[in-house]
Amino acid sequence: MQFRKRQGETTVTPPEDHDAGLYFIGRIHTPWSDRNDCPRQGRPDGPECRIEIFPPWVDAIEGIDRFERLEILYWLDRSRRDLVRQNPKADGQRFFGTFALRSPQRPNPIGTSVVRLDRIEGPNLFVRGLDCLDGTPLIDIKPDRCAFTPQAPPKPADSPGGP
Ligand code: SAM
Repeated sequence: MQFRKRQGETTVTPPEDHDAGLYFIGRIHTPWSDRNDCPRQGRPDGPECRIEIFPPWVDAIEGIDRFERLEILYWLDRSRRDLVRQNPKADGQRFFGTFALRSPQRPNPIGTSVVRLDRIEGPNLFVRGLDCLDGTPLIDIKPDRCAFTPQAPPKPADSPGGP
């Protein structure tokens, strides 16, 4: 069901064409089927959720077990994409531009969470820290940037004062 526009919120007509395509590389299984039950932001002590990786992408998780924390990107598929000005408290008082919020209602409804990796079983990652509805499509997984050291050789621009 589409999210209902609140009084005073502003929408636009999005362009007809898309500028890019995505692969849904998996699906996220969580305990929440109603958005009112979902946390606004995931917590490291939240319930365990299962990230299922679809073939042909399963080999892409090789080495992921080295990281305790992962950044998960997902497609908030039940969002409306035309809201530019929102009233998060639904009080008709304070309005914010969409890009000043982490609201799921946005032109490209990408959600991100840093999760704790509990374990891996075949193509399934068991994690804590998510805040999305059951069945939310997965679009990417990256090691948390704090724990990550690039495997590729450094480039000149990586040094302080580099070009
Ligand atoms: N942590 C992510 C972020 O900051 O990018 C998402 C935050 S967003 C505020 C989380 C809320 O999005 C949930 O509380 C729920 O109301 C809504 N939501 C979760 N899964 C969704 C989905 N698949 N489609 C649309 N809305 C969803």
